[in-house]
Amino acid sequence: MRWSMIATWKMSYDGVKKGTCLLKDNKSAKEAVLEAIHEVEKNENYHSVGYSGLPNEQGVVQCDAGFMDGETLQAGAVGALEDVVHAVDVAYECSKGRFNNVLVGEGANEFASSLGIKKETMLTKESYEKYLQRKEEKLPLSSYDGHDTVGMVALDQQGHLVSATSTSGLFMKKKGRIGDSPLIGSGFYCDDEAGGAAATGVGEEIMRGCLSYEAVRRMKEGMSAQQAASSTVYEWTEKMILKKGYCDAISLICMNVQGEVGIGTNIKFAFVCADENHEPQVFVAIPDGKDIILRAYDDHQDHLD
Ligand code: ASP
Repeated sequence: MRWSMIATWKMSYDGVKKGTCLLKDNKSAKEAVLEAIHEVEKNENYHSVGYSGLPNEQGVVQCDAGFMDGETLQAGAVGALEDVVHAVDVAYECSKGRFNNVLVGEGANEFASSLGIKKETMLTKESYEKYLQRKEEKLPLSSYDGHDTVGMVALDQQGHLVSATSTSGLFMKKKGRIGDSPLIGSGFYCDDEAGGAAATGVGEEIMRGCLSYEAVRRMKEGMSAQQAASSTVYEWTEKMILKKGYCDAISLICMNVQGEVGIGTNIKFAFVCADENHEPQVFVAIPDGKDIILRAYDDHQDHLD
Protein backbone atom coordinates (compact mmCIF):
# COMPACT_ATOMS: atom_id res chain seq x y z
CA MET A 1 0.00 0.00 0.00
CA ARG A 2 1.03 3.56 -0.66
CA TRP A 3 2.60 5.67 2.11
CA SER A 4 4.79 8.75 1.94
CA MET A 5 6.59 11.29 4.11
CA ILE A 6 8.30 14.63 3.52
CA ALA A 7 10.06 16.94 5.97
CA THR A 8 11.90 20.24 6.01
CA TRP A 9 15.69 20.44 6.38
CA LYS A 10 18.43 17.86 6.67
CA MET A 11 18.00 17.79 10.46
CA SER A 12 14.79 15.79 10.03
CA TYR A 13 16.58 12.81 8.43
CA ASP A 14 16.79 10.63 11.56
CA GLY A 15 13.21 11.46 12.44
CA VAL A 16 11.98 10.57 8.96
CA LYS A 17 13.80 7.24 9.22
CA LYS A 18 11.87 6.46 12.39
CA GLY A 19 8.61 7.81 11.03
CA THR A 20 8.83 5.78 7.86
CA CYS A 21 9.38 2.56 9.84
CA LEU A 22 6.03 3.25 11.47
CA LEU A 23 4.30 4.00 8.16
CA LYS A 24 5.74 0.81 6.68
CA ASP A 25 4.31 -1.01 9.68
CA ASN A 26 0.86 0.31 8.88
CA LYS A 27 0.89 2.81 11.76
CA SER A 28 -0.93 6.11 11.37
CA ALA A 29 0.42 9.31 9.84
CA LYS A 30 -0.16 10.93 13.22
CA GLU A 31 2.13 8.45 15.01
CA ALA A 32 4.77 8.74 12.30
CA VAL A 33 4.83 12.53 12.28
CA LEU A 34 4.88 12.89 16.07
CA GLU A 35 7.67 10.31 16.40
CA ALA A 36 9.69 11.95 13.63
CA ILE A 37 9.36 15.45 15.07
CA HIS A 38 10.31 14.20 18.56
CA GLU A 39 13.67 13.10 17.15
CA VAL A 40 14.43 16.64 16.02
CA GLU A 41 13.03 18.33 19.13
CA LYS A 42 15.20 16.32 21.51
CA ASN A 43 18.43 16.62 19.53
CA GLU A 44 20.67 19.19 21.20
CA ASN A 45 22.66 19.71 18.01
CA TYR A 46 19.78 21.51 16.36
CA HIS A 47 19.40 25.04 17.64
CA SER A 48 16.18 25.97 15.92
CA VAL A 49 13.79 23.36 17.31
CA GLY A 50 12.98 22.15 20.83
CA TYR A 51 15.75 21.40 23.34
CA SER A 52 18.74 23.72 22.83
CA GLY A 53 16.70 26.05 20.62
CA LEU A 54 18.02 29.62 20.39
CA PRO A 55 16.30 32.06 22.74
CA ASN A 56 14.41 35.31 22.36
CA GLU A 57 15.97 38.71 23.13
CA GLN A 58 15.46 38.11 26.85
CA GLY A 59 17.38 34.84 26.74
CA VAL A 60 14.26 32.66 27.04
CA VAL A 61 13.50 29.77 24.65
CA GLN A 62 9.91 30.11 23.46
CA CYS A 63 8.66 27.42 21.09
CA ASP A 64 5.81 27.28 18.57
CA ALA A 65 4.21 24.14 17.15
CA GLY A 66 1.20 23.05 15.12
CA PHE A 67 -0.59 19.82 14.25
CA MET A 68 -3.39 19.07 11.79
CA ASP A 69 -5.25 15.85 11.01
CA GLY A 70 -6.38 15.67 7.39
CA GLU A 71 -9.13 13.16 8.09
CA THR A 72 -11.01 15.16 10.73
CA LEU A 73 -9.53 18.61 9.99
CA GLN A 74 -8.92 18.91 13.73
CA ALA A 75 -6.00 21.28 14.23
CA GLY A 76 -4.14 22.53 17.27
CA ALA A 77 -1.23 24.82 18.03
CA VAL A 78 0.85 26.37 20.77
CA GLY A 79 2.80 29.61 20.68
CA ALA A 80 5.54 30.97 22.94
CA LEU A 81 5.55 27.75 24.96
CA GLU A 82 8.33 27.51 27.55
CA ASP A 83 10.21 24.62 29.23
CA VAL A 84 8.69 21.86 27.08
CA VAL A 85 10.89 19.80 24.76
CA HIS A 86 8.08 18.28 22.70
CA ALA A 87 5.96 21.30 21.81
CA VAL A 88 4.36 19.28 19.02
CA ASP A 89 2.76 16.98 21.61
CA VAL A 90 1.05 19.93 23.24
CA ALA A 91 -0.15 21.15 19.83
CA TYR A 92 -1.53 17.67 19.16
CA GLU A 93 -3.36 17.64 22.51
CA CYS A 94 -4.81 21.07 21.67
CA SER A 95 -6.15 19.66 18.39
CA LYS A 96 -8.40 17.18 20.16
CA GLY A 97 -11.05 19.42 21.63
CA ARG A 98 -13.94 21.39 20.30
CA PHE A 99 -12.53 24.62 21.77
CA ASN A 100 -9.15 25.87 22.99
CA ASN A 101 -7.35 24.61 19.89
CA VAL A 102 -4.73 27.36 19.88
CA LEU A 103 -3.02 28.34 23.12
CA VAL A 104 -0.21 30.82 23.66
CA GLY A 105 2.14 31.95 26.42
CA GLU A 106 1.13 31.32 30.02
CA GLY A 107 -2.03 29.48 28.96
CA ALA A 108 -0.02 27.10 26.79
CA ASN A 109 2.44 26.51 29.65
CA GLU A 110 -0.37 25.78 32.09
CA PHE A 111 -2.04 23.43 29.64
CA ALA A 112 1.24 21.53 29.15
CA SER A 113 1.61 21.18 32.93
CA SER A 114 -1.97 19.94 33.21
CA LEU A 115 -1.06 17.14 30.80
CA GLY A 116 1.66 16.07 33.22
CA ILE A 117 4.43 17.11 30.87
CA LYS A 118 7.69 17.54 32.77
CA LYS A 119 9.23 21.03 32.68
CA GLU A 120 12.76 21.07 31.33
CA THR A 121 15.40 23.72 30.92
CA MET A 122 15.57 24.29 27.20
CA LEU A 123 18.56 26.61 27.02
CA THR A 124 21.83 24.68 26.75
CA LYS A 125 25.27 26.09 27.48
CA GLU A 126 25.99 26.27 23.75
CA SER A 127 22.77 28.13 22.94
CA TYR A 128 23.36 30.52 25.82
CA GLU A 129 26.85 31.27 24.54
CA LYS A 130 25.45 32.00 21.09
CA TYR A 131 22.94 34.31 22.74
CA LEU A 132 25.62 36.20 24.69
CA GLN A 133 27.73 36.57 21.58
CA ARG A 134 24.80 37.84 19.56
CA LYS A 135 23.90 40.32 22.27
CA GLU A 136 27.43 41.60 22.24
CA GLU A 137 27.40 42.01 18.45
CA LYS A 138 24.19 44.09 18.66
CA LEU A 139 23.17 42.92 15.18
CA PRO A 140 19.67 43.67 13.94
CA LEU A 141 17.28 40.74 13.53
CA SER A 142 18.28 39.04 10.34
CA SER A 143 16.04 37.35 7.86
CA TYR A 144 17.53 33.89 7.90
CA ASP A 145 19.77 33.31 10.82
CA GLY A 146 19.31 30.69 13.51
CA HIS A 147 15.78 29.71 12.67
CA ASP A 148 14.54 26.69 10.82
CA THR A 149 11.28 24.96 11.49
CA VAL A 150 10.87 21.24 11.33
CA GLY A 151 7.72 20.76 9.26
CA MET A 152 6.40 17.41 8.10
CA VAL A 153 3.60 15.92 6.05
CA ALA A 154 2.83 12.20 5.95
CA LEU A 155 0.34 9.93 4.22
CA ASP A 156 -0.43 6.59 5.85
CA GLN A 157 -1.64 3.35 4.30
CA GLN A 158 -5.23 4.23 5.21
CA GLY A 159 -4.97 7.30 2.97
CA HIS A 160 -4.90 9.81 5.84
CA LEU A 161 -2.69 12.87 5.87
CA VAL A 162 -1.18 14.72 8.81
CA SER A 163 0.97 17.83 8.84
CA ALA A 164 2.82 19.36 11.77
CA THR A 165 5.51 21.85 12.74
CA SER A 166 7.83 22.63 15.65
CA THR A 167 10.31 25.49 16.08
CA SER A 168 12.00 27.80 18.54
CA GLY A 169 11.39 30.54 15.97
CA LEU A 170 13.43 33.56 15.14
CA PHE A 171 16.63 33.96 17.21
CA MET A 172 16.43 37.17 19.34
CA LYS A 173 12.74 37.62 18.59
CA LYS A 174 10.62 39.73 20.92
CA LYS A 175 9.13 37.96 23.92
CA GLY A 176 5.75 36.59 22.83
CA ARG A 177 6.46 36.80 19.10
CA ILE A 178 5.01 33.86 17.22
CA GLY A 179 5.78 33.00 13.63
CA ASP A 180 3.79 31.11 11.02
CA SER A 181 4.47 27.69 12.55
CA PRO A 182 1.55 27.71 15.05
CA LEU A 183 -0.85 29.43 12.64
CA ILE A 184 -3.28 27.04 10.93
CA GLY A 185 -3.11 27.63 7.19
CA SER A 186 0.15 29.56 7.37
CA GLY A 187 2.77 27.21 8.81
CA PHE A 188 0.80 24.00 8.20
CA TYR A 189 -2.42 22.70 6.73
CA CYS A 190 -3.83 19.42 5.52
CA ASP A 191 -7.03 17.92 4.22
CA ASP A 192 -7.45 14.30 3.09
CA GLU A 193 -9.48 15.59 0.14
CA ALA A 194 -6.75 17.86 -1.16
CA GLY A 195 -3.26 17.38 0.31
CA GLY A 196 -0.98 18.71 3.01
CA ALA A 197 1.68 21.39 3.36
CA ALA A 198 4.10 22.87 5.89
CA ALA A 199 6.35 25.91 5.77
CA THR A 200 9.69 27.17 7.01
CA GLY A 201 11.32 30.55 6.60
CA VAL A 202 10.44 33.99 7.88
CA GLY A 203 7.08 33.65 9.61
CA GLU A 204 6.08 37.26 9.01
CA GLU A 205 6.39 36.68 5.25
CA ILE A 206 4.63 33.31 5.27
CA MET A 207 1.70 34.22 7.52
CA ARG A 208 0.46 37.18 5.48
CA GLY A 209 -0.02 34.84 2.51
CA CYS A 210 -1.50 31.87 4.45
CA LEU A 211 0.86 29.91 2.25
CA SER A 212 0.23 26.35 3.47
CA TYR A 213 -3.49 26.73 2.93
CA GLU A 214 -2.90 28.36 -0.43
CA ALA A 215 -0.77 25.44 -1.64
CA VAL A 216 -3.35 22.89 -0.44
CA ARG A 217 -6.10 24.87 -2.16
CA ARG A 218 -4.15 24.73 -5.41
CA MET A 219 -3.78 20.94 -5.14
CA LYS A 220 -7.51 20.69 -4.57
CA GLU A 221 -8.03 22.64 -7.78
CA GLY A 222 -6.00 20.07 -9.67
CA MET A 223 -2.40 21.22 -9.53
CA SER A 224 0.29 18.63 -8.87
CA ALA A 225 2.07 18.88 -5.52
CA GLN A 226 5.13 20.33 -7.28
CA GLN A 227 3.13 22.92 -9.23
CA ALA A 228 1.18 23.94 -6.14
CA ALA A 229 4.31 24.37 -4.01
CA SER A 230 6.46 26.17 -6.54
CA SER A 231 3.75 28.47 -7.92
CA THR A 232 2.61 29.47 -4.41
CA VAL A 233 6.11 30.47 -3.34
CA TYR A 234 7.11 32.03 -6.65
CA GLU A 235 3.99 34.19 -6.94
CA TRP A 236 4.14 35.27 -3.31
CA THR A 237 7.81 36.17 -3.61
CA GLU A 238 7.11 38.27 -6.73
CA LYS A 239 4.19 39.99 -5.03
CA MET A 240 6.25 40.87 -1.95
CA ILE A 241 9.06 42.23 -4.11
CA LEU A 242 6.54 44.41 -5.96
CA LYS A 243 4.95 45.63 -2.72
CA LYS A 244 8.03 46.29 -0.63
CA GLY A 245 11.12 45.69 -2.71
CA TYR A 246 12.20 42.38 -1.17
CA CYS A 247 10.90 39.06 0.04
CA ASP A 248 12.34 37.15 2.97
CA ALA A 249 13.07 33.42 2.90
CA ILE A 250 10.12 31.09 2.29
CA SER A 251 10.13 27.33 1.72
CA LEU A 252 7.14 25.01 1.43
CA ILE A 253 6.80 21.24 1.39
CA CYS A 254 3.64 19.75 -0.12
CA MET A 255 2.05 16.34 -0.55
CA ASN A 256 -1.06 15.40 -2.47
CA VAL A 257 -3.52 12.65 -1.58
CA GLN A 258 -1.57 10.16 -3.70
CA GLY A 259 1.56 10.85 -1.64
CA GLU A 260 3.34 12.75 -4.44
CA VAL A 261 5.51 15.54 -3.07
CA GLY A 262 6.48 19.03 -4.16
CA ILE A 263 8.79 21.84 -3.05
CA GLY A 264 8.52 25.58 -3.34
CA THR A 265 11.36 27.80 -2.18
CA ASN A 266 12.98 31.16 -2.80
CA ILE A 267 16.30 30.11 -1.21
CA LYS A 268 18.54 27.05 -1.34
CA PHE A 269 16.64 24.59 0.82
CA ALA A 270 17.18 21.01 2.03
CA PHE A 271 14.42 18.49 2.64
CA VAL A 272 13.98 14.77 3.28
CA CYS A 273 11.46 12.45 1.70
CA ALA A 274 10.66 8.76 1.47
CA ASP A 275 7.85 6.50 0.33
CA GLU A 276 7.13 2.77 0.01
CA ASN A 277 9.58 2.54 -2.90
CA HIS A 278 12.32 4.92 -1.68
CA GLU A 279 14.41 5.01 1.50
CA PRO A 280 14.68 8.40 3.24
CA GLN A 281 17.03 10.69 1.35
CA VAL A 282 18.10 14.30 1.74
CA PHE A 283 17.63 16.52 -1.31
CA VAL A 284 18.40 20.13 -2.12
CA ALA A 285 15.99 22.48 -3.87
CA ILE A 286 17.30 25.57 -5.63
CA PRO A 287 14.97 28.20 -7.10
CA ASP A 288 15.41 28.82 -10.80
CA GLY A 289 12.89 31.44 -11.93
CA LYS A 290 9.48 29.82 -11.78
CA ASP A 291 11.09 26.38 -11.55
CA ILE A 292 12.90 24.50 -8.85
CA ILE A 293 16.09 22.52 -9.45
CA LEU A 294 16.17 19.36 -7.34
CA ARG A 295 19.22 17.22 -6.64
CA ALA A 296 20.64 14.92 -3.96
CA TYR A 297 22.24 16.65 -0.96
CA ASP A 298 26.03 16.76 -1.22
CA ASP A 299 27.99 17.09 2.05
CA HIS A 300 30.89 18.77 0.26
CA GLN A 301 29.00 21.62 -1.33
CA ASP A 302 25.80 21.91 0.70
CA HIS A 303 26.02 23.25 4.20
CA LEU A 304 22.44 23.37 5.29
CA ASP A 305 20.89 21.95 8.44
N1 ASP B 1 9.02 30.00 10.36
C1 ASP B 1 9.72 30.09 11.62
C2 ASP B 1 9.36 31.39 12.29
O1 ASP B 1 9.19 32.39 11.64
C3 ASP B 1 11.18 29.97 11.54
C4 ASP B 1 11.77 29.17 10.42
O2 ASP B 1 11.17 28.28 9.89
O3 ASP B 1 12.90 29.42 10.01
O4 ASP B 1 9.33 31.41 13.49
